[in-house]
Amino acid sequence: MKLIILAFCLGFPFLSLVSQPSQNKLNVLGRKGYELSIQNTPNKELLNLEKIIPEILLDIKYATPDNFTKQVIYKEAKAFARKPVAEALRKANLEFSQLGYSIKIFDAYRPYRATVKFFEIVGDTRYVASPKNGSRHNKGCAIDLTLVDTKTKRELPMPTEYDSFRKEAWAEAPVSDPEILKNRTTLIQVLSKYGFRVNKTEWWHYDFLDCFGFEVLDIPFEELE
Ligand SMILES: [Zn+2]
Repeated sequence: MKLIILAFCLGFPFLSLVSQPSQNKLNVLGRKGYELSIQNTPNKELLNLEKIIPEILLDIKYATPDNFTKQVIYKEAKAFARKPVAEALRKANLEFSQLGYSIKIFDAYRPYRATVKFFEIVGDTRYVASPKNGSRHNKGCAIDLTLVDTKTKRELPMPTEYDSFRKEAWAEAPVSDPEILKNRTTLIQVLSKYGFRVNKTEWWHYDFLDCFGFEVLDIPFEELE
């Protein structure tokens, strides 16, 4: 069971396959391909979430050794998402702010090379997604996040820590503590109003549903601005 949870965590790519029906080889865009794509379709632009949502907090785990690989994967602690994803997140954060909460991001757009690196470190597709595929994070269409109290900046108690491989991390896992249950429910319900769907095995992972045509990208953060 753990293996399945891990595969999901790292972006097991069922949906990526659906969006590329006629290709066996993954279409990965570098900087030039991406720039051309946003000239044709401005909605594809990756936006810096700190600029779109100034109140947002970042705790980018893959920019530190505090992640399941125990290695620093990103050179910079930044969070980007495609324009419609960033806009939807901004609206969701407005609603959270009325409840006294703010969004804290653990991971957003993930350059494809990070997915490759995960595979190099773990080396087993039972544990991580194969680089032959890609994930919604690689497309700038998935966000890992939690909520903090706006005043104290403390994370609200949730069922598990980020990237936990335990069954308690499942979005519908039973929760005995009413406060934790309320927090998880608020997170899932508000985000679902703005077009995000929680991952079945990760309470912190949200796919933006309207991402048709967004390619897998391989551009490091430092080349995006
Ligand atoms: Zn995720």
